[in-house]
Amino acid sequence: MTDCLFCKIIAGKIPSKKVYEDEKALAFEDINPQAPTHVLIIPRKHIAGIDQATDAEAELVGYCQLVAAKIARERKLGHGFRTVYNVGPDAGQTVFHLHLHLLGGRKMSWPPG
Ligand code: 5GP
Ligand code: ZN
Repeated sequence: MTDCLFCKIIAGKIPSKKVYEDEKALAFEDINPQAPTHVLIIPRKHIAGIDQATDAEAELVGYCQLVAAKIARERKLGHGFRTVYNVGPDAGQTVFHLHLHLLGGRKMSWPPG
């Protein structure tokens, strides 16, 4: 999608600190980190959000979770990490290309604010 920020990151038109990439997904450092590890995992395919994903995209959505777990392992976040989708205005979604937040490296409170 031409005017999507994360599609532009995928295309290399906007720079990012890449953490992982393969033919299905890309992971990069969040520009405004909320924890020592704050990585965004996105599918290369443009999907507006988890609420817009279809059954045909189930594998891709699950794959993004596994990429997050792999990065957490690499970063030795076994003590605790969190994967989050913000969906809609109340949850603070600002970018409408599906992205999974991987947060870790500090103690996190529950429930989240
Ligand atoms: P949301 O609030 O939609 O769940 O998350 C969007 C995330 O994208 C935010 O955590 C924000 O800091 C991050 N972000 C916004 N613009 C950019 C950018 O240009 N580059 C990177 N790396 N992250 C961005
Ligand atoms: Zn996009």
